[in-house]
Amino acid sequence: MPAFVLILTYVVLALAPLALAAASGRPPRPVMDEIASAMAMVAFAILLVEFVLSGRFRSISGRVGLDVTMRFHQLFARTALALALVHPFLYTLPFARPLPFDPTRQLTLTFAAEGLVTGVLAFVLLPAFVLLSIARDRIGWRYETWRLAHGLGALVIALLVLIHARHAGRYSADPLLSGLWAVLTAIAALSLLHVYAVKPLLALRRPWRVTGLRKLAERTWEVVLSPSGHDGIAYKAGQFAWIRIGAPAVSLRENPFSIASAPGEGRDLRFVIKELGDFTATLSGIPLGTTAYVDGPHGNLVLEGRGGTGIACIAGGVGIAPMLGLLRQLELDADPRPTVLVYGNRHAGQIACTEDLARLRRQHRTQVVQVLLEPPDDWQGERGMVDAALIARLFAEPRHRDWLYVLCGPPAMMETVEAALLGLGVAPRRIISERFQHD
Ligand SMILES: Cc1cc2nc3c(=O)[nH]c(=O)nc-3n(C[C@H](O)[C@H](O)[C@H](O)COP(=O)(O)OP(=O)(O)OC[C@H]3O[C@@H](n4cnc5c(N)ncnc54)[C@H](O)[C@@H]3O)c2cc1C
Repeated sequence: MPAFVLILTYVVLALAPLALAAASGRPPRPVMDEIASAMAMVAFAILLVEFVLSGRFRSISGRVGLDVTMRFHQLFARTALALALVHPFLYTLPFARPLPFDPTRQLTLTFAAEGLVTGVLAFVLLPAFVLLSIARDRIGWRYETWRLAHGLGALVIALLVLIHARHAGRYSADPLLSGLWAVLTAIAALSLLHVYAVKPLLALRRPWRVTGLRKLAERTWEVVLSPSGHDGIAYKAGQFAWIRIGAPAVSLRENPFSIASAPGEGRDLRFVIKELGDFTATLSGIPLGTTAYVDGPHGNLVLEGRGGTGIACIAGGVGIAPMLGLLRQLELDADPRPTVLVYGNRHAGQIACTEDLARLRRQHRTQVVQVLLEPPDDWQGERGMVDAALIARLFAEPRHRDWLYVLCGPPAMMETVEAALLGLGVAPRRIISERFQHD
């Protein structure tokens, strides 16, 4: 599905309740009341569509990329929150008091207990939920616990809002709008079921085995997975997959990793993984032959369809992983375009995949620019950070404006590099990137 169709679908879904409310033909109320209802309805529609913007649907994140999907998810969550929090304060009509000019009470706000209680609960829970998501890394929960709480919490809030809307909303009890809410809530609930139960159960039929495990650098491991009794997955270089290793297919223990191999190399998937938390720290002890499950491919950090007269891969730390797959595929395709790999690390012990770098230099004539913040005395490469000055030294010629730049690494590095490239006149569409962490 093209990106503009996705955006159009989103806009239509967010605004559809307004159209249905307008079509209901009810007598108009003061404009502030109509605005308040409109805000509430748009907030609810956004909340429900958030479920499919969770980053787990290939038809969405595969089109616009995981970073864009997650940015939209975060931005719209905050938008829905703002609309939901403001809307009750805009109503001008008094609660439940019949107005002398309104004997049928069509213009009067009335609240049955179901509408009031659910509305108040949602009003309190929604900001708590969004704040918890923003502060995820600071609250000290395990990622898996947070993820479960996030999915189920969102569902509980959606159900509360559904009841609130049907009992307290002026328009939401109308059959058409009520039908739309029911359909959207069902899609939201089914999307959770799909991610947490259906996909994992389907994965049982396509198991993988760990066939390679070796240390590449300080706290960095290479893991190779081979398909067991099937053909593996069809992916593009640069994509990523959610993998479960040594955990039941239906479990919350799954983590996203970039595929560091190239499709042209065969069916095995190679990952370059840095020890970080509870799962990655156990990598060294995984026995060969352990069963694994793969959900992928996902993401669109891919070269296909993007052009570029040269390719520059700019990586920090384990951000090297997708670059290896991208550059290896270019090498296998004997792609004639010039390639540069800028690879930054703190110290020499962190440099991973030295054989790949040597091969790319030798066989694909890739210019490999190694950057160390704390270099040894005899260091031949660049010193310091991957910063604007380095980028200007490497890519300041007019021909570089038509290159494609692929960025992956610490967020601060990616922001610096992106700003530097834009400053050199590179068009935004010529810069693609992947973040390894989303709040
Ligand atoms: C698209 C993408 C590609 C990635 N590619 C690589 C790679 O090639 N190599 C590599 O070393 N790391 C990669 N990462 C980061 C990697 O997913 C995390 O480092 C890893 O999941 C940490 O898991 P943990 O249980 O060891 O640590 P934890 O302490 O559980 O988690 C640390 C942080 O990792 C992130 N994380 C953990 N589990 C998940 C999950 N299930 N889904 C999303 N984020 C999660 C969260 O931000 C969390 O705060 C990638 C991340 C993303 C989003």
